[in-house]
Amino acid sequence: MPTIFWRFISKFIQNSVVPSLQLRLKTNSKMTQRTLMSYFSSKNSIENIKPVTNNKLVETSPEELEVSKSSPIKTYGKRKKNSHLFSDSSDEESNYNKKTCENNSPSKEKSPIKEQLYSTNKDNNKSTDKNKELDQSNINSKINETPEMKLLQNSTNNIVSDHSMSTEMYYDPTKKSYHPINDAFWSQNQETPYCALTKTLLCIEEVSARLKIIEILSNYFRSVIVLSPKDLLPSVYLCLNKVAPDYTGLELGIAETTLMKAIVQTTGRSMAQVKSDVNKTGDLGIVAEKSKSNQRTMFKPSRLTVKGVFEKLKEISEMTGHAVLAKKVDKIQSMFIACQDSEARFLMRSLAGKLRIGLAEQSVLQALALACTLTPPSLNYPPEIINISKEMNEEKFKKLYDEKSLILKTTYCESPNLDAIIPIILEKGVDALPENCKLTPGVPLKPMLAHPTKGVHEVLDRFDGLKFTCEWKYDGERAQIHLTEDGNTYIFSRNQENNTSKYPDILNRLNLVKGPNVQSFVMDSEAVAWDKEKKKIMPFQILSTRKRKNANEEDIKVQVCVFMFDLLYLNGEPLVKRPFWERRKLLKENFIEVEEQFLFATSLDTITMEEVQDFLEESIKGNCEGLMVKTLEEDATYEIAKRSRNWLKLKKDYLDGVGDTIDVVVLGGYLGRGKRTGTYGGFLLACYDPESEEYQSICKIGTGFTDEDLQNHTEFFKEHVIERPRSYYRYDQSHEPDHWFETIQVWEIKCADLSLSPVHRAALGIVDPEKGISLRFPRFLRIRDDKTIEQSTSAQQIAELYYSQVQIMNQGSTNTNKEDFY
Ligand code: ATP
Repeated sequence: MPTIFWRFISKFIQNSVVPSLQLRLKTNSKMTQRTLMSYFSSKNSIENIKPVTNNKLVETSPEELEVSKSSPIKTYGKRKKNSHLFSDSSDEESNYNKKTCENNSPSKEKSPIKEQLYSTNKDNNKSTDKNKELDQSNINSKINETPEMKLLQNSTNNIVSDHSMSTEMYYDPTKKSYHPINDAFWSQNQETPYCALTKTLLCIEEVSARLKIIEILSNYFRSVIVLSPKDLLPSVYLCLNKVAPDYTGLELGIAETTLMKAIVQTTGRSMAQVKSDVNKTGDLGIVAEKSKSNQRTMFKPSRLTVKGVFEKLKEISEMTGHAVLAKKVDKIQSMFIACQDSEARFLMRSLAGKLRIGLAEQSVLQALALACTLTPPSLNYPPEIINISKEMNEEKFKKLYDEKSLILKTTYCESPNLDAIIPIILEKGVDALPENCKLTPGVPLKPMLAHPTKGVHEVLDRFDGLKFTCEWKYDGERAQIHLTEDGNTYIFSRNQENNTSKYPDILNRLNLVKGPNVQSFVMDSEAVAWDKEKKKIMPFQILSTRKRKNANEEDIKVQVCVFMFDLLYLNGEPLVKRPFWERRKLLKENFIEVEEQFLFATSLDTITMEEVQDFLEESIKGNCEGLMVKTLEEDATYEIAKRSRNWLKLKKDYLDGVGDTIDVVVLGGYLGRGKRTGTYGGFLLACYDPESEEYQSICKIGTGFTDEDLQNHTEFFKEHVIERPRSYYRYDQSHEPDHWFETIQVWEIKCADLSLSPVHRAALGIVDPEKGISLRFPRFLRIRDDKTIEQSTSAQQIAELYYSQVQIMNQGSTNTNKEDFY
């Protein structure tokens, strides 16, 4: 039966025909429409409307129906995500933001229409006159957009838009007992409206509890899986703020000025106004949304869809060549014009390359795993299982969910390519991933990471009773070298970036290095700068002077030597599940050392404290950073999905320091005095908290720099000065720098120890509810170009380093150490 017909019937009933039904239809017209649709499609007859009273039509329980009637969007935990967005902004913005959320949040007690009036009036008490006008027009438009008014306005025509408007407004992925069909507002095989995703992101923005974030996102994914499965891939990409796998190098991250230009050209606001708003709020997304909401359009462009937005974003990221900027602005404008409500906010943030809602990659994968566990993808509609948790006890469900999430995360780490993973999930389910998406040469896997330790005794304590080996820890750049079956070679960085064109010299030597039986492989190694005359390793700083892309072998001045330490794939077979002793054996059997060019990592298998200590000292004399200590037999697989305890790092710095160097983000600079006049003399540093997406100040630094370093840093940061601190920088006024910077560079630093601090904000709330952690006697070591800002040492890791300090341990504090997922 044509959709339009059932909608008409539904409206007809709603307006009067069956009084007993009327109440229900009013309370939840969308659900009933769906119910009717499924009912008509099965029974094909109007007389059969009656079964609504004997529950045949309604899949949900009466309580669910009751909840669905009001379905308020709740705020979970403290409001940390966006409180910062307005911490330093005007009332106008505060009110504006509140309204945006309340638009989405009908109250439980009041009718939606009253609640909106109520909430707007509440805001009006605090708002400026300008806001009052805006609020009044919002009230009017809200009244006009309520389901009741829409029904009146649209008696018979325009039924389709009526249906979607009346239900879109109540979309609530935060709902308990969320039903992926009844609680969605789009129908089967309809393209997912972009606003379904942006409303979900808006809800997530208001929540700080990670588990709740995962639940909300999983509800949205469940609806997409059931109703519009083709949109799952673009949905996941948009949540991750990616358009393609990392190793393709395709990324968004359009410059702020380009985006502001698009806002100016589309809304008629002046550049000065837009810039001033961005400076005030620190958030282009909010400014875009606000600029858009003040704009009146004659004709409503057709609504954006998840697929449409994703495709356009991808096209933008692929654009190159002549007049590319103007073409990008055109494309951005065409989407921006069609944005409504929070769509503009998230579109702009996606384009800028940062969603800023605390949605880390792990949470997205976890939400996908939860969605697939609760409502397993099925080729049938409606799926047989809507909510599997209702069929089993909590413990059993948790076990199932943990299994699925481990499969998904491990697959993603071994083969981080969603273009392959998502179609398998939809067609065959999560359990089919290991068979179908295997580690493959040509696709970089996430590297195994090591845990820091503070001394030889700690290594021996941890590896008590296990066989292990110690390898020199080379100070260069990680190189994951791939050879595919068809003879293509690649080199990927620690971050899965494609470094192939950086190292033509390494690739040209591969034929000498691989044995005659090797057809394909993935090798883990470290590329280190090599002094040909002195025949010794040179420091990392020398390696970092090499050209980063498209290097010509003839022009290369810094020679590298590759130190091979692991083999992860050989001739069609992944080796990651094999113990290290076996992988190392295969490495040595199938690869040949070439002097000064390709060598096996120097290693020593021992269990005595004295030998480990001597070997550590030897490694330092050999210009290495220390040792990597690795289990050989038991617990010795290549743990891609975790920062595993099977590898421990023992750096020379640990002996007199805190256990590890720390990678921090530079937030601002203090102008130099005396000898340092004309350059920055010190900097404010921060760690990154992925949970809140905040940069939390950790120390001021002024030592470890050469004059040349200071000159270079000054030149570099000159280009990244911002007028005011971003609203997500956490610091104390007393440490305010002379210039604030964009978060653009990671520095590796060393310190004497970590202490609780009343002024610094690192890991605030983890170790102490009111104090943060600061670093004592920090020294600059180097720039970490191979780490993104988000990969700097996290607040949680800072807390762990703090706990692991011997004196704290002695005081008996709790150790928060836990195994992280990559
Ligand atoms: P993490 O990778 O743990 O976040 P990081 O990037 O700061 O920390 P390090 O703490 O210096 O790196 O230690 C791990 C790195 O050491 C590896 O990523 C690898 O590049 C390098 N490395 C050098 N020698 C070895 C070796 N023998 N085995 C494994 N890794 C080694």
